[in-house]
Amino acid sequence: MGLTKSSVGMGAVDSGLIIKKQNPGDKIIALAGNPNVGKSTVFNALTGLNQHTGNWPGKTVANAQGYCKSEKHSYVLVDIPGTYSLMAHSAEEEVARNFICFGSPDAVAVVCDATCLERNMNLVLQTLEISSNVIVCVNLMDEARRKKINIDLEVLSSRLGVPVIGVTARKKKSLKKLLDALDRTLEQKGEKTLFKVKYPSEIEAAVALVEPKAKRLSCGKINSRWLALKLLDGDPSLIKEVSACLGEDFLKNPALFAAIERAREGLKTAGIEGDRLKDLTVSALVNAAEKICDGAVKHEKKQYGGRDRRIDRLLTGRLTAYPVMLLLLAFIFWLTVTGANYPSELLSRLFAFIGDKLDTAFNALGAPLWLHGALIDGVYRVLSTVVSVMLPPMAIFFPLFTLLEDAGYLPRIAYNLDRPFKGCNACGKQALTICMGFGCNAAGIVGCRIIDSPRERLLAVLTNNFVPCNGRFPMLISIITMFFAFGASGGISSLLSVAVLTLAIVLSIGMTFAVTKLLSKTILKGVPSSFTLELPPYRRPQIGRVLVRSVFDRTLFVLGRAASVAAPAGLIIWLMANITVGDNSLLSLCSSALDPIGSLMGLDGAILFAFILGFPANEIVVPIIMMTYLSAGTLESAYGLAELRDLFISNGWNTVTAVCFIIFTLMHWPCSTTLLTIKKETGSLKWTALAAAIPTLIGMLLCILVNLIAKLLF
Ligand code: GDP
Repeated sequence: MGLTKSSVGMGAVDSGLIIKKQNPGDKIIALAGNPNVGKSTVFNALTGLNQHTGNWPGKTVANAQGYCKSEKHSYVLVDIPGTYSLMAHSAEEEVARNFICFGSPDAVAVVCDATCLERNMNLVLQTLEISSNVIVCVNLMDEARRKKINIDLEVLSSRLGVPVIGVTARKKKSLKKLLDALDRTLEQKGEKTLFKVKYPSEIEAAVALVEPKAKRLSCGKINSRWLALKLLDGDPSLIKEVSACLGEDFLKNPALFAAIERAREGLKTAGIEGDRLKDLTVSALVNAAEKICDGAVKHEKKQYGGRDRRIDRLLTGRLTAYPVMLLLLAFIFWLTVTGANYPSELLSRLFAFIGDKLDTAFNALGAPLWLHGALIDGVYRVLSTVVSVMLPPMAIFFPLFTLLEDAGYLPRIAYNLDRPFKGCNACGKQALTICMGFGCNAAGIVGCRIIDSPRERLLAVLTNNFVPCNGRFPMLISIITMFFAFGASGGISSLLSVAVLTLAIVLSIGMTFAVTKLLSKTILKGVPSSFTLELPPYRRPQIGRVLVRSVFDRTLFVLGRAASVAAPAGLIIWLMANITVGDNSLLSLCSSALDPIGSLMGLDGAILFAFILGFPANEIVVPIIMMTYLSAGTLESAYGLAELRDLFISNGWNTVTAVCFIIFTLMHWPCSTTLLTIKKETGSLKWTALAAAIPTLIGMLLCILVNLIAKLLF
């Protein structure tokens, strides 16, 4: 659900092959591993950075890099997306595979989950086929102890021929062992005796034919045995990368070509064709993993706990899944709304008080009117409204959602929503991207990389904007509180707000389904693909860390972004309100020009203009509406929700305006960051334009419809 610097593309290395060293002597370490084994937790603990962590597979979709020092070396750590295997299927698996195979890391640390080590061993064995500088970092040792799983690290190490270190990444101190092992590995000279996976004799014979040629031509850049195996397999995406690394001429070499042909003939005679080669390779890996773990990993108890199963029965059961999902959503909203009201009021009073003092100070200093107006009525007022309206709900919503994420609920949502998404010919993983969209649509769109099929990925990208991000939530909460819960006593007022907000979110998710279905029946036709999504064990969230990180990484980051847009926006609005053309200010001219279409949509020109100016960040829409109304001289000031409500009502707002405002908040063009991300992810202006046009058109039509119906009824 993360909006962090990296989630919007700052700090992420993307395809990840360009590594920035701090010193020329820095060693590059790839942190590989299956999804959800704690790679990002290891990365964060060692580098002091804050990559997004969460209890669900698939959240790291691009490489990220950070720096750390051991006793002997300084390291560049590269956190690569989780992958079960190096036979990549999805975009983020390709990113992982490409970095290990072609990124020339000095060593690869394969992070494994101690509670399911045998399954993780598959990736370890594949990595050993590529690199000899491998360290196996068995994480989650605390969970393994709790589940009574005994792991003999020394036996594993001697069988694999590489260091095997046990750690608990949540306890930073335990990671020193990993750094020591990295130091030792990089200093080790001479040949290592690594475990070698034995394939069926026919495959070994074919590899033996190709390997010598591959070795001579690749000049030691890529492990020749692995390369030979992959050349026989002929996976097009890998062949493309091999050509990029070794040059087009490599594959055109006649001797190599002839060897591959001969080897394939041999395999064909033995009945190994098409997917059979892959199947046999995978079986050999699975058997080898079993052999490695045999006797070294002992389970004293059954692996999948009864507790997890009981919780799953409730959270994913046929009858209970949807009601529980709705109740949880409503509960989070209730905590957010009730919790945000009081601090919001307090902040607005504080800002009003400071505003008065600033007024007095400016007057006492005899500051010119234009300066007073621009700074206090412009910049300060918009900035303070953004902070008082946005900060409290965000500071509550982010941590609550992150706690659910850390506990392992997100993949359960994907599981529950898989069937309706299938019904729309889309992929159930789209649910995960929706969850990320709640935090930030740009993050949700980057997250769409977890969807393998390009068609389904595009469906998810085009519809992500229907769920409101954290910039839009506070807008919804404030308007709902002002127009649907105002005047009701405390408890009832919050319940009313929560009910309307939940309804709005259900509408936005319903619209996601409807548009996904429409697109998959028209321009993005196709059958839904199947996917495997692991339901991770429920984990106790790290409450303290979640709170601290949500406030610092997410809340303050989002707020900073909003504030940096709000301050200049406040100034621009003030200038527009004070520059006159004829008898009218520029601001009133613009909003009057938009009035006809605004009124048709149940809104007005000022609201529509605020949405347009809110393109860089939705957070500033409400403050801009406020500024526009204030500049017309209706009221002296409006800091709290009550005053804001009076101001809006005196400018013609009623329940219908509020409903249309909610609809248009949920459905209009994505913000500039999101649009740029869509362009980056799809590489196409056409899809980017469509991603903006679809919600805008639907939002406008719905608003017009609601307005017309209201006019007919009342
Ligand atoms: P990644 O997908 O491999 O990057 O995994 P993350 O670093 O996001 O971690 C997945 C989940 O495991 C998160 O909820 C972490 O808080 C949790 N986690 C990571 N390391 C440990 C650990 O050593 N012990 C426990 N109990 N949980 C951990």
